Amino acid sequence: MSADSAHFRLEEVAPGAWAALAGETGACVSNAGIIDLGDQTLVFDTFMTPEAGADLRSAAERMTGRSPALVVNSHHHGDHVRGNQAFGQATIISTDRTAELIADTSPGDLEAYEAQLTEWIASLDRKLVGSDRASDPLVHQDLELSRAMARSIVASLPDLTITLPTSTFADELMVEGSARTAKLITYGGGHTDSDTFLFLPDASVLFAGDLVWVGNHPWAGDGHPDDWVSIIYRMKELSPASVVPGHGTVANYEYAGIFTRYLTFLCDMVKQAEATSTSLTKLAETPIPPEYADWGSVSRYRSSLESLGSRVGLPPD
Ligand SMILES: [Zn+2]
Repeated sequence: MSADSAHFRLEEVAPGAWAALAGETGACVSNAGIIDLGDQTLVFDTFMTPEAGADLRSAAERMTGRSPALVVNSHHHGDHVRGNQAFGQATIISTDRTAELIADTSPGDLEAYEAQLTEWIASLDRKLVGSDRASDPLVHQDLELSRAMARSIVASLPDLTITLPTSTFADELMVEGSARTAKLITYGGGHTDSDTFLFLPDASVLFAGDLVWVGNHPWAGDGHPDDWVSIIYRMKELSPASVVPGHGTVANYEYAGIFTRYLTFLCDMVKQAEATSTSLTKLAETPIPPEYADWGSVSRYRSSLESLGSRVGLPPD
């Protein structure tokens, strides 16, 4: 049985549990999950647009035979919550802090937001087709994905209704179904100020949200990278076998070790720059270590370093 959409494909990660892996149309951007709990269906994250969210709801209905009653928002970033409105009367669950952040950071003035996005698309167009267009395939792919995302967001704005969580928790929430239990856990803020992951003890599968990225440079400019590393070590104590990342492919949990090395490297570079009063420009020019040379979303490496560097007050030049 297939319930793939133009925007994502499903991968079964355990009986009755699927990763919904984002394609390249720009409507999803991040991954999501569908979990059959036995007597109810849970969806983990809802993608970037209401259209992709609606396809996710349809896929969940097709795979589990019922409408999702529970929706989880792992954190407040738009590519994990903008599909919320597609889930009708479902209970939308997040941490208290994530609910606040969704309310505080969602665009209020949609016209101004659209104008910003249109300007961004024009600048991406110039970089993609201009005389000095990017020749590096990874840079080119990154620009194309960014443009697809920006276009999808613009197309989604006439239908977008910011839909907030309806039920919140502080540290941990056990969702007990007739066939399995899903544990929703937060260890505080790492990737953002508050990040939730979902663990299925019966299958040892961990849906990490953006706490783990596979084969992609993460956005690290919003959260607490030092704490992020500790959170991933703590997650390991649950003995997960596999991980569904927020971005990238499903991986063996061992992969989280590579990802923590990457985060540690970013933190070290920023600390070193701070100790030597290195400029932001110089920090952002730090070469990408060979181990991560083939990772996608390459512009995030630079933007994360710039953001972390400016937070510790590095001089611009
Ligand atoms: Zn995120």
